[in-house]
Amino acid sequence: MKTPFKIVLVSAIALFAVLLFNTFSLKSTASAASSSIKIPRDDSAALHLSEAIQIKTVSFGDTLPIDTAEFIKFRLFMERTYPLMHAKLEKQSFNEFSYVFKWNGKDTSMAPYVLMAHLDVVPVEAIAESKWTYPSFSGKIEKDTIWGRGAVDDKSSAIAIMEATEQMLENNFTPERTFYFCFGHDEEIAGKRGANIISQWFKEKNINPAFVLDEGGMIDTEKFKDVQRPVAVIATGEKGFVNVDISVAIPGGHSSQPEKETAIDVLNKAIVKVREKQMPPIISPPVKSLLEKTAAEQSFVKKIAIANMWLFKNLVIKGMEENKQTNAMVHTTLVPTIFKAGIKDNVIPSIANATFNSRILPGQTSDDVVNFVKNAINDERVTVKKQTISLMEASSSTPSNHPSFQMLESITQKIVPNVLVSPYLLIGATDSRYFRPFSDAVLNFTPMQNAKGFHGIDERIGVTDLSRMISFYKLVLAEK
Ligand SMILES: [Zn+2]
Repeated sequence: MKTPFKIVLVSAIALFAVLLFNTFSLKSTASAASSSIKIPRDDSAALHLSEAIQIKTVSFGDTLPIDTAEFIKFRLFMERTYPLMHAKLEKQSFNEFSYVFKWNGKDTSMAPYVLMAHLDVVPVEAIAESKWTYPSFSGKIEKDTIWGRGAVDDKSSAIAIMEATEQMLENNFTPERTFYFCFGHDEEIAGKRGANIISQWFKEKNINPAFVLDEGGMIDTEKFKDVQRPVAVIATGEKGFVNVDISVAIPGGHSSQPEKETAIDVLNKAIVKVREKQMPPIISPPVKSLLEKTAAEQSFVKKIAIANMWLFKNLVIKGMEENKQTNAMVHTTLVPTIFKAGIKDNVIPSIANATFNSRILPGQTSDDVVNFVKNAINDERVTVKKQTISLMEASSSTPSNHPSFQMLESITQKIVPNVLVSPYLLIGATDSRYFRPFSDAVLNFTPMQNAKGFHGIDERIGVTDLSRMISFYKLVLAEK
């Protein structure tokens, strides 16, 4: 054999050995089905969720007023339905309709845990109402399903936390550790008056939670096609949020004699330029963990690729870019959501504006987003400005080997037979982001399966899901 060929051959064999070693190092983490507990169907809780859905605690928009009568109705519903929780826990209101309950634990030396859920819901568009199977705020219960706005997002979590608490209080239970329940009333419009103010109160009082649990991750049996069992994704990090305004001012005039380029034309081209490219991809720690956890159960080819990211990273990213949800996990996204120009059909407007909404990956910043937009447009006639009012940089992630993650993992294995539990990155935004700067661990998860219709048509949840959620919170409350 000639020496160069020998070198190539030896290198190839070594490479295969490394690839295979890494591939076989990915271990599947099946949980023993026998360890799971029986979950009783809770029909009384279903009736309570139905009642909660019928109260229209809608957040209409940043600058639009809420219907305070509905929020008062919700408060009265909580007081009437969960009397022990109101009698035995300390309660405080924030901006009238957000609440914190404190359940004192036996050992007050331990840092407390925080359970969160929000009480507001998004509106139902008038045009969509007729497409619902049952009226959107009916709270209709049909066999195993509870229908209506808020069934998934997020009244089921609020109800499940309160049901678990009330039932445990009926049994004279006291938690080992102090728990706070935080119920915000404006999560759907960024939580500025609810969770934000509550988090400031925590900071003033120097309360640093050891663990914060909020909505976000769920159980899925549909999306991970190659994994033959339920996958529970627990978010360990969350993307950031920034709006970037772009505007063009060019004197307009009569539409019968247009210039070569108008403000609308320039703005339009700028938008196209931004949308043609994506910001550089990043595989953040939560996404890396998700890939590794699920890869162990996928086809051999996928397994080789994910186990050997040092070689196949680009290939893996390419695969993720093909689907809008997985693309959002590896890219900071940018999409125009507001476009404004023109007042009359025969007047060329002198100004045209648009707003990009961007969700920022951990590892990139809002300044990176602004620079990307400026470079992509590369046109001095276009002004680019970031909004600061709703700005939230991407969160730092909770490590997946944190005891809180392991606690949720083992609880989830108890209530979902044969489940695969994995970290992941939340691509939306939740109230819990206000707690990330001063909490040890913030995780996002509720054990509902294949949730349907949230923010859309036919939002609904199974009575089985609600019952599982109550069992889940009871196990969390019973933790030390
Ligand atoms: Zn929500």
